[in-house]
Amino acid sequence: MQKILVSRCLLGHRVRYDGGAHGPLVLLERWQAEGRVVALCPEVAGGLPTPRPPAEIAGGQGAGVLDGRLPVLTVDGEDVSAAFIAGAEQALALVERHGIRLALLKARSPSCGNRENYDGSFTGTRVAGEGVTAAALRRAGVRVFSEEQLPELEAALRELEG
Ligand code: SF4
Repeated sequence: MQKILVSRCLLGHRVRYDGGAHGPLVLLERWQAEGRVVALCPEVAGGLPTPRPPAEIAGGQGAGVLDGRLPVLTVDGEDVSAAFIAGAEQALALVERHGIRLALLKARSPSCGNRENYDGSFTGTRVAGEGVTAAALRRAGVRVFSEEQLPELEAALRELEG
């Protein structure tokens, strides 16, 4: 049975930077009941506390953080890149351990966002980009979906299981 790596905040866990959560989503509850869900909050797993100051990547490209070209900075200017990279490494370890090929990650997070991100100006400006964990997973061949793409994720799961 295919497992799915899921952002913990989408499961109602209060791990968001502001102490909040999302969901849980109906489809996700079914996948949980089937035992498919492997939950992770990369930022908490990387050692950051909750609540924590919001953080963004200049230009919104998580791959640049993985390559050491860009920092993740909090709104106060603290460099939290190491924690973000540690969280991405935890995600890769789970992928390896469970043979994961699909992920459901929270949209527009500097760790989890898969298609869009904030641009580093803390003004709510969106750019095409991805978070640090999303970039690491993509490089490892994991298909990353957001909570805005649940039908696509369900189709990908069906395709894998035939
Ligand atoms: S979006 Fe990702 S890093 Fe942020 S709280 Fe949710 S699981 Fe954690």
